[in-house]
This record gives sequence, structure tokens and C-alpha cells, in this order.
Amino acid sequence: MPAAKSRPFLFEAATGLKKLVRDHPEDEPALRLLAQAEEALCNYSAARRLLEQCMSLLGRRDKHDLKWLARLREMEDKYLLSPALLKGLAVDLERTLPAAGCAHTFQRTEDWLRRKGIQDLARRLDSLRRHFSDVCDCDLLEKIIVELDLDRRP
Ligand SMILES: [Zn+2]
Repeated sequence: MPAAKSRPFLFEAATGLKKLVRDHPEDEPALRLLAQAEEALCNYSAARRLLEQCMSLLGRRDKHDLKWLARLREMEDKYLLSPALLKGLAVDLERTLPAAGCAHTFQRTEDWLRRKGIQDLARRLDSLRRHFSDVCDCDLLEKIIVELDLDRRP
């Protein structure tokens, strides 16, 4: 997480770069800078997509970029499993599950990921499932409650 004081500047830089790449979508150096700004702002999915764009524009995959890509993917997964985000999922599952009852699928979790604007749903869902070795929404909710030591619904 960047120092709180630097965030507005980074945000400003990202906004300016976004405008630039909107007009010049093939400007690889600008895309690359924007990817760096997005990473610093913890927008890992956006950063990864931008880097992938750079790599396809360059038409090659150099070692440095591949390492960066791997790091961004790892951060995307970690971010998804961050306590704040998991707590949000647990709160949402608690709210939506009882009414409908668990269909013993990942439908509610998937809906939540989609509402959060999280990209690559299949891959994200897969990393959640791997982490919790869970079988469905209600099972996942139980495991998040245990992992985060959250208060159970009365
Ligand atoms: Zn279930």
C-alpha cells in the first residue's frame, strides 16, 4: 500500500495516463507507466491487463515482464483473499443465503465477485476454492467465519 500522502498524486498520474492511452491505445510506454501506477494503487487486475496489452503490443515476452506478470497474478489472488474482502463476502453470504437457502453451488459467491467488479471470475473462484477447499456457498461462509474468527449470526 503506498503511503497515504502519495496516493492523491498517484491517482492523479493514473487519471492523466488513462486519458493519454484512451487517445493513444498503442502507446506502449504510457500503458506501461499506467500499469505501474495501477499496481501502486493496488488495482492489480487493471495492472495485469495493461501489462498483457504491453506484451502483445511488443510482440514478445521478456523475462522481466513475465516476472512482473506472475507477481501481479499472485497479488490478484492475495487481494481476493485479503481479510477485508473475505469479510465482505461473508457478510454478503450471510445476508443472501438464508432467504434463498444454499443451493450447494457457488452461485452467491460468483454473484458477489461479479458485483465487486472482479475480473476473470473462473480463475478467482478457483483460487478461493483451492484456498478453502470448500464445496459450496454455505461451506465457504463457515470456513471464512472460522478463518477470520468473525462473530456468528445470533
Ligand atoms: Zn451449501
